[in-house]
Amino acid sequence: MIVTRFAPSPTGYLHIGGLRTALFSYLWARKNGGKFLLRIEDTDKARNSQEAAAAILKAFEWLGLEHDGEITYQSQRDDIYAIYIKQLLDEKKAYKCYMSKEELAELRETQMANKERTKYNGKYRDFEGEMPDDAECVIRIKAPLSGDIIVRDGVKGDITFKAEDILDDFVIARGDGSPTYNFVVAIDDHLMGVTEVIRGDDHLSNTPKQIVVYEALGFEVPKFYHVPMIHNSEGKKLSKRDGATDVMAYKEMGYTPEALLNFLVRLGWSHGDQEIFSMDEMRELFNPKDINKSASIYNTEKLDWLNSHYIKNSPNNALAKLLEQYGLVLTSHDKKEILLDALKERAKTLKEMATLVNEIILAPLSYDEKAVEKSFKADAIEILNAFKEKVISSDELHLPSDYHHLMQEVVNEMAIGFGKIGQPLRVALLGKMSGPGLDSVMAIIGKDETILRISNAIAANTASV
Ligand code: GLU
Repeated sequence: MIVTRFAPSPTGYLHIGGLRTALFSYLWARKNGGKFLLRIEDTDKARNSQEAAAAILKAFEWLGLEHDGEITYQSQRDDIYAIYIKQLLDEKKAYKCYMSKEELAELRETQMANKERTKYNGKYRDFEGEMPDDAECVIRIKAPLSGDIIVRDGVKGDITFKAEDILDDFVIARGDGSPTYNFVVAIDDHLMGVTEVIRGDDHLSNTPKQIVVYEALGFEVPKFYHVPMIHNSEGKKLSKRDGATDVMAYKEMGYTPEALLNFLVRLGWSHGDQEIFSMDEMRELFNPKDINKSASIYNTEKLDWLNSHYIKNSPNNALAKLLEQYGLVLTSHDKKEILLDALKERAKTLKEMATLVNEIILAPLSYDEKAVEKSFKADAIEILNAFKEKVISSDELHLPSDYHHLMQEVVNEMAIGFGKIGQPLRVALLGKMSGPGLDSVMAIIGKDETILRISNAIAANTASV
């Protein structure tokens, strides 16, 4: 069975880059009927891991990603790690090192002065002499002194690390007994039954160390996929300056889960030249062997484009539900269909759509000065009054086409261009020059509100005529 995992370090929110590897891991597990596990890497106990886990779960819930089984918290597993430390000590695959901080610093300095790689010199590796009394010790693992460590990576191919160039007997437990990062990651991945590790390639330098741990403990090494980073348009690692890094900020900005996941799946993975992927398609088509070898570029226009696509293609009921997050309750609005149809082509985000909806259903509080100046010219009042009379005397006004018909009548009878009525009417109804089709606007707000808005606009703006 394929078992993948997402192993975030708690930062208080789910990071967009983390979400991408989580998505890849999730998709690969789901595609294979496997398991997708969650582990909180909270070895730094100062930070609140429950809160971080809650933030991640909240984001997963919003996005519709579910993990399997219980969450593993590294901070609760010291007893487990202690067993393996003891095992390695008993098997003499690890040892106590009594080198003091000062001695270590001195060693580093000498190595730096000689332009050598700074590393532990193995002083206590096979130490036979008298151990210093009462001295605090760390536990170091015996790393291979020569030979190759090969990371068999599903994205980058085989990567050969020369043991002598990159390794030394690294610390697996600190002076206070607490285990170190690379040690616990290898143990947890093994105990959780993880078969495939999909993570950012910023972790590639950790992998040889983790392989040393796997091998020392006789564990099978999982398959690795190191995913190239997300870059900004200047080719630098994505930072807060390039866009939000907190996944939930995308919700606040009005992105749909589908658009965000579709955006992320294409950051570093492709399937031919297909751009739009439903969740089902992603689950069916995703394969980590197709992860790109080079960094991907974060591009807000692409995200906006996908978001517009999903907004445009969402059924109105679903859209109304999504808009509730932005304070809009439309479910019982009798003209919901017309309203959403009129706007779903125009909005890039749900938040923008909520604003557009409010601009229609709430009467304008003021009128854009420039728009008034431009459109409330001499005959505008006469035209608006003529139109208003027609609205008053019409009984059957329901659809946009009913209102369009009345506008057309005024245009014909007064022998004017459509703009002559359209412009002042738009200002009267919406307070400004932009917005969706006026026939739809009137059908949405209804006959009485249409009459009221025209009367109000005439009263408020006659002074400028
Ligand atoms: N905790 C690491 C991080 O948040 C991930 C480690 C891993 O995936 O192996 O970057």
